[in-house]
Amino acid sequence: HAPLSTVDPEVAGAVRAELVRQQSTLEMIASENFAPVAVLEAQGSTLTNKYAEGLPGRRYYGGCEHVDVIETLARDRVKALFGAEHANVQPHSGASANAAAMFALLQPGDTILGLDLAHGGHLTHGMRINFSGKLYNVVPYRVHDETGIVDMAEVERLTLEHRPKLIIAGWSAYPRQLDFAEFRRIADLVGAYLMVDMAHFAGLVAAGLHPNPVPHADVVTTTTHKTLGGPRGGVILCRSELAKKINSAVFPGQQGGPLEHVIAAKAVAFKIAAGEEFRERAERTVAGARTLAARLAEQDCREAGVKVLTGGTDVHLVLVDLVESTLDGQQAEDRLHTIGITVNRNAVPNDPRPPMVTSGLRIGTPALATRGFREADFTEVADVIAEALISDFDEQVQQRLSARVSRLADEHPLYPDL
Ligand code: PLP
Repeated sequence: HAPLSTVDPEVAGAVRAELVRQQSTLEMIASENFAPVAVLEAQGSTLTNKYAEGLPGRRYYGGCEHVDVIETLARDRVKALFGAEHANVQPHSGASANAAAMFALLQPGDTILGLDLAHGGHLTHGMRINFSGKLYNVVPYRVHDETGIVDMAEVERLTLEHRPKLIIAGWSAYPRQLDFAEFRRIADLVGAYLMVDMAHFAGLVAAGLHPNPVPHADVVTTTTHKTLGGPRGGVILCRSELAKKINSAVFPGQQGGPLEHVIAAKAVAFKIAAGEEFRERAERTVAGARTLAARLAEQDCREAGVKVLTGGTDVHLVLVDLVESTLDGQQAEDRLHTIGITVNRNAVPNDPRPPMVTSGLRIGTPALATRGFREADFTEVADVIAEALISDFDEQVQQRLSARVSRLADEHPLYPDL
């Protein structure tokens, strides 16, 4: 019965320190968010004790009557949220969801088309040493050299040439919306499956601020912890015909017991995502990213070699191109870290610098929008970031910018009761 602080002061200390870090700095990693306290509560519950292999009503263990209620709620809510015929809410993560979906649709050696990692794709879309790159014959497509937009003419050409069994549309670092109808048309030219990985933009879809891939795709995968703002986890949506294949690819194909405590937290997150407050938050998320993109596209930034890929954004993130800046991605990330802003460096298409250094930054607004940031706050953050990237960043500048960051953090308290 002893609390964590008594049983394990070392872990308790690091957990507390992480809370303070989240409270006192500005989180701008595009794939992160702050889960509501209700989500944390569900995830930290006694459901973690329960084995429930199988599906609601058809379990391989006794005592599943309550987790059945919870998993059914999660399934029904996510189906309603995205207008899907079938949902499996058991994947432990986005990567597990993608692995299961591909396991359901493909045989080893089949050809898949996915966005090149170096052009904004995810590891699970065919990276060489990921399961996807090892099991399948990967044909990467890319963004257009001049526009930075996914080159649909190339997608069509590669599809006709390689006749993939599966086309994956989706991204981890891309600031625009994909044309799902066009992907569908191209997949149909060769009878390929279309899978959309909406991990990054699912929250925007739920809020009605981004086209919904569900009507166009055979399978849609997502994480639940990015713009959706829930617990870390994955979900697979599909049409009814594929339901059996998808379910058995998750269990027993890829996983054993589902994490019912996480599924409970997913159910809570889906309920929240269907509400008006969530929609308003998603609007502030996209507006904040647009404000940031506009500031970083101004003349003083351009003159310092700081550019915005594709010239702007339609989503929750901005990709900064530092190819012509004296700062590389690592140095830029470090500068922002020094003043209390957390981002990640990110390769830009055709990046001249090595992957551990890169020539870009990926900067996202979901976590700050969750924290309550509005237009004026995002304007201030954008100004601080611009100055950090284009000034000489001497001691005085650092102190001034750090103070502005601290003020913003103080004005928007995070988890005040934890
Ligand atoms: N798919 C996309 C597009 C992602 O960006 C990510 C995570 O960054 C994933 C899948 C994998 O999610 P997870 O980290 O939960 O495995």
